[in-house]
Amino acid sequence: MPAPDDTAFSPASAIEISGLTKTYAAAGRAPEKHALKGLDLQIPTGSIFGLLGPNGAGKSTTINILAGLVRKTAGQVRIWGFDQDVNPRQSRAAIGIMPQELNIDPFFTPRASLEVQAGLYGVPKAERWTDELLELVGLTDQAESYTRNLSGGMKRRLLLAKALVHRPQILVLDEPTAGVDITLREMLWQNVRKLNEQGMTIILTTHYLEEAEEMCDRIAIIDRGELVLCEDTHTLLGRTDSKTLVIDTGEASALPGLPEGIRVERRADGRLALGYAPSRHTVDQLIDAVRGAGLSIRDIAVEAPDLEDVFLRLTSHREG
Ligand code: ADP
Ligand code: MG
Repeated sequence: MPAPDDTAFSPASAIEISGLTKTYAAAGRAPEKHALKGLDLQIPTGSIFGLLGPNGAGKSTTINILAGLVRKTAGQVRIWGFDQDVNPRQSRAAIGIMPQELNIDPFFTPRASLEVQAGLYGVPKAERWTDELLELVGLTDQAESYTRNLSGGMKRRLLLAKALVHRPQILVLDEPTAGVDITLREMLWQNVRKLNEQGMTIILTTHYLEEAEEMCDRIAIIDRGELVLCEDTHTLLGRTDSKTLVIDTGEASALPGLPEGIRVERRADGRLALGYAPSRHTVDQLIDAVRGAGLSIRDIAVEAPDLEDVFLRLTSHREG
């Protein structure tokens, strides 16, 4: 893919959101809804950034505000350095959105859809890259078919191509793999990685934590319209570098001396719980220390949190 525009500056943050607030007005019996409550977020240029959160957290609201589809109540949004309100045209040109819904005109061919989209973004004919895009998403053979004859997966790939017609610096994917099969998922991630290697900043929402863990350099978790955390993925995973070795030592009530960095407590059921970081200590070392203290081991178990646990601990995980 040709570089977007070599002469353009590259801001440190592809997206800067500050104090972003969205209150949906009351409608009928539904009261007003505070979907975003002063969200601050910086998305580093060149990253693959995951926006995570339980249902109703405000992910789509955030993305729809970035896309210019939802009007914010308060706050500031800078896209590629451009304030959305001050420079709407430039900020819109910097971002491409792949929506979750399959909103494609069934009577257009993929080629026509891409040409129409390019027209909407004011891309001159000479600067269009329709054939390359069709190739990129594997729709070259279907270029002239009616879109209504495409499979669901092909439509999704077309949506990705549509998001790219104006060569945005930033690509946003809202739940791109919700309900898609493994082949399509892999194809999507291959494309995303390739685009990112070429310099594109990627933002995606997903509720598949494993996927976020695998794909994203940095992850923000939001809940009920507020930021819970924003960290590099390896830092977030570091939070799971914590396991507990639970040992039944029978009648013994003394606590053994243990290597530094081990948290030890006697549980209500009498078992000994040793909290340790697998990156620092092995189960062997702990068992040796317990035996060395003259305690016998009747039974033993390891309790390990995964990212799911971290996520649940950090979010309230309720609907609405
Ligand atoms: P997510 O994408 O994280 O699941 P959303 O941004 O879609 O969350 O929704 C955030 C909250 O705002 C939810 O409580 C949702 O019900 C509410 N909401 C979303 N869109 C509207 C709307 N058009 N009118 C009223 N409330 C809305
Ligand atoms: Mg959503």
